[in-house]
Amino acid sequence: MDERTHSFAAFLKKRFPGRRVRKIPIDAGFTCPNRDGTLGYDGCVFCDPYAAGPVATAGWTIERQVEMRLRRSPGTSFIAYFQANCNTHAPQDELRRRYQAALGHPRVVGLAVATRPDALPAPTLALLQELAGRTWLSVELGLQSIHERSLAWLRRRHTYAQFVSAFVELRRRGIDVVVHLIVGIPGETRGDMRATIAAVNALRPAGVKFHLLHVLRGSELQARHERGELPLLQREEYVDILCDLLERLDPGIVVHRLAVDREAGLFIAPAWALDKAAVLRAVTGELRRRGGFQGRLARASAPGPAVDKRAPML
Ligand code: SF4
Repeated sequence: MDERTHSFAAFLKKRFPGRRVRKIPIDAGFTCPNRDGTLGYDGCVFCDPYAAGPVATAGWTIERQVEMRLRRSPGTSFIAYFQANCNTHAPQDELRRRYQAALGHPRVVGLAVATRPDALPAPTLALLQELAGRTWLSVELGLQSIHERSLAWLRRRHTYAQFVSAFVELRRRGIDVVVHLIVGIPGETRGDMRATIAAVNALRPAGVKFHLLHVLRGSELQARHERGELPLLQREEYVDILCDLLERLDPGIVVHRLAVDREAGLFIAPAWALDKAAVLRAVTGELRRRGGFQGRLARASAPGPAVDKRAPML
């Protein structure tokens, strides 16, 4: 993929020259406003009982999760990826303590914090700004779609306006943002998905993650899938749509993910998505067939820096 998309692997090589850097998925013991009753108890329809976090190490202390990965990979440095649940959903002192539990290790060279747009109050933004001044920091912000009907279908319980507001506040503080998007939301047309990419291009995040809409054990989507109510994309459709979107994505934006990456034991459907390598090969093959590459059809900007410090265009 590297030559046709601006991949995260290529970004890491440039950002940490001469070092092997990987992400450690961390379950830091947070909950989520969409599951703890702050906004709702049932969560987003696609969310599994581990809230996207690691399964094998769920419930371990942060220190133990980090130390296990460091022991297994001598010579590798790591970005601690606070992945499970909503990793800014706690008072500032508690956030600081948990982030520091990972950052305290010299081989942890950065922090990625997954959160929701409505979970970034001013004290948390100030803490993240402070951390961005002393380590590599990226905030992974769930958007999924700019369309309100899709956000409602996904049961996100935030609006696109809330996302834009959080994004602007993060960028104003010089904090890099990676935007999560879902491909294959029922009812979304090709035009709807292209509109989401155009909006992302205008915002100029540091990165995006593309997620195929898929079914995980214990999610609301499992029940809908079992009732036969859930249309899912075939591999050829996903690859075709994804290439269409990649060709319209600003080439300065780093692509962090293109294929499903979840434990097989949690995964239900579509079955083809479990073969991540085959999906990536198919995307590369389709881009090659089209003579395509990231940004070929983007009206926006020229290639920007890998970590874009420009102000968003609103
Ligand atoms: S997907 Fe994220 S925001 Fe939605 S319920 Fe799960 S942890 Fe919360």
